[in-house]
Amino acid sequence: MAPVLLTDPAQILELVEEQHRQGKRVGLVPTMGALHAGHLSLVQQSNIDTDFTVVTIFVNPTQFGADEDLEKYPQDLDLDIRQLSTHNVDAIFAPTRETMYPPGSSTSILPPEVAKPFEGQLRPGHFEGVATIVLKLFNLIPANVAFFGQKDYQQTRVIGQMIEDLNIPIEIKICPVIREPDGLALSSRNAYLSPAEREQAVALSKALFQIESLVQEGQRDCAELLMAAKKILADASIHEIDYVALVDKQNLSPVRQVHSNAIAMAAVYIGGTRLIDNIILS
Ligand code: AMP
Repeated sequence: MAPVLLTDPAQILELVEEQHRQGKRVGLVPTMGALHAGHLSLVQQSNIDTDFTVVTIFVNPTQFGADEDLEKYPQDLDLDIRQLSTHNVDAIFAPTRETMYPPGSSTSILPPEVAKPFEGQLRPGHFEGVATIVLKLFNLIPANVAFFGQKDYQQTRVIGQMIEDLNIPIEIKICPVIREPDGLALSSRNAYLSPAEREQAVALSKALFQIESLVQEGQRDCAELLMAAKKILADASIHEIDYVALVDKQNLSPVRQVHSNAIAMAAVYIGGTRLIDNIILS
């Protein structure tokens, strides 16, 4: 059945409350649209874990910096709806900017400590915007479970900590990174890459997989591991590196020796396109 498309906050809240009255478990998949197989994997997980899946599509302006890609962010609501129609989605919530941030709206969330390094440092205000919109969506769609991708690993930590700190009654489930056959993590921003840049971009996941395989071979020294990853990026002529880091999975503080709770994270520019990726080193 085609999903119900709603743009009105009161209507989506009423629809979700009705599902709870019927005893259904509700799943929430927040997205910014331009959907790809990564997003759809979250929908599939929601279909497995819950009885009623709501996908939100909203390009949230408050999480974009002034010099970022808000105005050129890919948007095609009709195509997104067509994709979701074949994936057993019950409702789509696609509000306008004015509905989510009416004139006079000025409250925002001060994100937790884990938001400070990496993306938080390089994109000031980003996680404040993310935490605020996610809390608004949790309030409008009081789901049992919300599904997020490990692709945006720091985001999952920020939201997880916010849920804990603010006693929000929702469970989050983190789903694995979906990749192209050559390893590139799917991202709506991959659409910006020229064919040559697309070839170059594979080095990002290659660098992270190199760290993983060296760890599997017994290398634990982070300086060595990072040097190997940076060599792969340099060999692909990727010189604009925001970070390549080995950090603790929980608090994102740097580690010197890889241990069982470490994660490798990276953010680089390929031409004008900023891509992020990560691999959990278990
Ligand atoms: P976005 O539309 O980029 O805000 O992403 C919406 C959700 O999809 C977030 O929870 C992302 O982490 C997740 N997501 C994006 N790309 C992928 C991917 N390649 N694999 C799995 N989840 C993803």
